[in-house]
Amino acid sequence: MKQIGVLALQGAVREHAQMLEAIGCKVVLVKHMKDLAELDGLVLPGGESTTMRKLLNHYELLEPIRVLAQQGLPMFGTCAGLILLAKEVIGYESHIGVMDVVVARNSFGRQVDSFEICLDIPAIGEAISAVFIRAPHIISVGEGVEILAQHDGKIVLARDGHLLGCSFHPELTTDSRILEYFVTSMV
Ligand code: GLN
Repeated sequence: MKQIGVLALQGAVREHAQMLEAIGCKVVLVKHMKDLAELDGLVLPGGESTTMRKLLNHYELLEPIRVLAQQGLPMFGTCAGLILLAKEVIGYESHIGVMDVVVARNSFGRQVDSFEICLDIPAIGEAISAVFIRAPHIISVGEGVEILAQHDGKIVLARDGHLLGCSFHPELTTDSRILEYFVTSMV
């Protein structure tokens, strides 16, 4: 059974854990460095990236997660998690800074403008539900980064080798296909 960590500092932790369990993974909630041992993959959930950054500093997790990413541990960042992974964040300092993308925060309006759509993602499937909540988007990608989905002309899902990042919240729907893609084709 694959052992997947969910960064459990803040945000949509429980929803990711439930969906990962439903698709047959063993979930480890990651709050301390010891929780990072023996993971096959790590999910960084959505929430608030500036808050998560403070907590990553507080729990001394930033550097250990960066090192694991550099060593090739598969990681999936959703929404704020994508912001944490990105090498560059417009107007802010980067955080883990390992995925070769430039992101902008809050690209789709305010909290009240949150919305759900269906995305056709050729590499994964058709009509996949996606919930956007004050979502970031990917402005540009480095060489070798695969653009997997766009919405309104904006990149919302991309893969940089063992790193996957999306603007939206797959875990807030009942559609587990993107998490399954991560677990089966990347982990
Ligand atoms: N707006 C949040 C941020 O910057 C991300 C929102 C989310 O994860 N739903 O970090």
